[in-house]
Amino acid sequence: MKEIRIGNGFDVHKIIPGEGLYLGGYFIEGPISLKGHSDADVLLHALTDAILGAVAEGDIGMHFPDIDPVNKGRASSDFLEFALNLAGAKGFSLVNIDITVVCERPKIAPHREEIRSQLAALTGISLERISVKGTTTEKLGFTGRGEGVAAWASVLLSEV
Ligand code: MG
Repeated sequence: MKEIRIGNGFDVHKIIPGEGLYLGGYFIEGPISLKGHSDADVLLHALTDAILGAVAEGDIGMHFPDIDPVNKGRASSDFLEFALNLAGAKGFSLVNIDITVVCERPKIAPHREEIRSQLAALTGISLERISVKGTTTEKLGFTGRGEGVAAWASVLLSEV
């Protein structure tokens, strides 16, 4: 029987004034950005950590320290590619992704299909295996006050 692995990831980035932000490798134009050492793609960071978690290979900060200048402004798709390759080297491939993005802004629904398509391109799995959900915290907490964006990711990996 093929072994299966579950993984989860969580990340938060602070909202700052700017010209847009990346979610899942997709750029959403607008008056806000996310603060971070890399491109601050909170969704891809949660997803990368979920994949690393499934194969028990530490976390994104261990592999890509935020004190390393080489990671400054770096595209988070590099981190995702690294995690997928690491899982692949251990004999596992991605089955499905389920992500929840928590924020007051930007609204996720208008961008959901573009984000899913981008994730399909980055991971090589089909759209029907990629779920992206948006929710708010009803104005409560840092996400409710519009101070940051949080993302949770769950993944299933299967032995090839
Ligand atoms: Mg992060």
